[in-house]
Amino acid sequence: MGPPGAGKGTQGELLAQHFGIPRYSTGDILRDARRSTTELGLEAQRYMDAGELVPDAVILGIVEQVMSEPEAAGGFLCDGFPRTVAQARGLAEVLARDDLALDAVLNLTVGVGEIVSRLTRRAGLEGRTDDDLQTVRRRLEVYEEQTAPVLEYYRESPVGVTNVDGTGTVDEIQARLRERLSA
Ligand code: AMP
Repeated sequence: MGPPGAGKGTQGELLAQHFGIPRYSTGDILRDARRSTTELGLEAQRYMDAGELVPDAVILGIVEQVMSEPEAAGGFLCDGFPRTVAQARGLAEVLARDDLALDAVLNLTVGVGEIVSRLTRRAGLEGRTDDDLQTVRRRLEVYEEQTAPVLEYYRESPVGVTNVDGTGTVDEIQARLRERLSA
């Protein structure tokens, strides 16, 4: 978990490699669908370009599908999901069906000023269509309105939330995450 630009993708990729498990990034899955102009991609595009969330039913459909792949059997890491309380409840239902539970909810913390500067810098480097200033602002609002409550949801659940300082070098942040997971 963490606001847009917190480093979830970078850190999630490294953690997944470290544990030898798949990383399921709903953002990456949607971008791939958009590139290959599938029906899913076309539906998702207008939400993504506006910095809005793709509807919960669409996201839960994707998640259920990837979680049923054989590679998911040994565990997996979710990146950018769940982003609403409804998605968190949906995930809990899907996990409960297989008698599974989350091992940890990691939350990368980074200040708003740093986020805006990281994201607008990324726009030029990665060419993401949702990294212009106006869309970045909207994504941050959407995060506060719809995703921050997910942290509350997990804080009140048995798994809890593990906050990890998301500032510093990539290696420093990765070391912190691994340390918190082994604690
Ligand atoms: P990300 O790469 O995780 O920042 O996601 C980019 C965009 O994809 C978001 O701004 C949303 O429009 C959409 N998206 C990704 N994951 C989700 C999700 N779990 N729920 C709703 N929309 C999502």
